[in-house]
Amino acid sequence: MTFEVVQREYAKLRPQLPRFCGCETCRGAGTIAVDMQFLPDVVTTCPDCHGTRYRREVLDACAVGGEVLDEDMALWACDADLAWRARGAGWRCVLAPAAVAYHHHSPSLGHASSAKHLLVGRNRVRLLARNASRRQLRRRLLRIVAYDLLYVGYAGLTERTTAPLTGRIRGLRGWHADRDRAPRDVPLSPPPGLRAALRRNRAYRAGAAR
Ligand SMILES: [Zn+2]
Repeated sequence: MTFEVVQREYAKLRPQLPRFCGCETCRGAGTIAVDMQFLPDVVTTCPDCHGTRYRREVLDACAVGGEVLDEDMALWACDADLAWRARGAGWRCVLAPAAVAYHHHSPSLGHASSAKHLLVGRNRVRLLARNASRRQLRRRLLRIVAYDLLYVGYAGLTERTTAPLTGRIRGLRGWHADRDRAPRDVPLSPPPGLRAALRRNRAYRAGAAR
């Protein structure tokens, strides 16, 4: 799927909102190739989006205290945090069903490692504290807590670890500091459910074992 096709689809779906959030300098690639004539091209990070693939205008609208990607959330969910903030700032996203993305699962910390469990638990709570509206929390709190308790129990039984619980407790300790702005009510997709979570976990394990 080319940048132009995504742009065209976006314009069709959102004629009243012709602003497309992909970076036009690098055409959504995050990098630009500099033609070196007789030598191989030199590939550099895009100077406008710094590899994030969003156009500058979106990044400026999402910055909190001058920071776009939160370093405290590095390695897990900082991209979701940015996307959620962009939605809150009035930008929209569209589904590109033909797009294919290759994701190397957990290359930094390793699937099911204690470090990853800690980070995911903490950042999951931080993501909610920073972006979920009061209404969303009220409506979904029971389901969120039930899912997280099941997750913590499942990891405890199958992997003999308490790291998911410790991570969530760390996130909750910083809840008030993270809830420093009133997030807008951004419509969310329905949760994929427990079966999908188990399917995803099986796929991750199969990938990690290869
Ligand atoms: Zn760019």
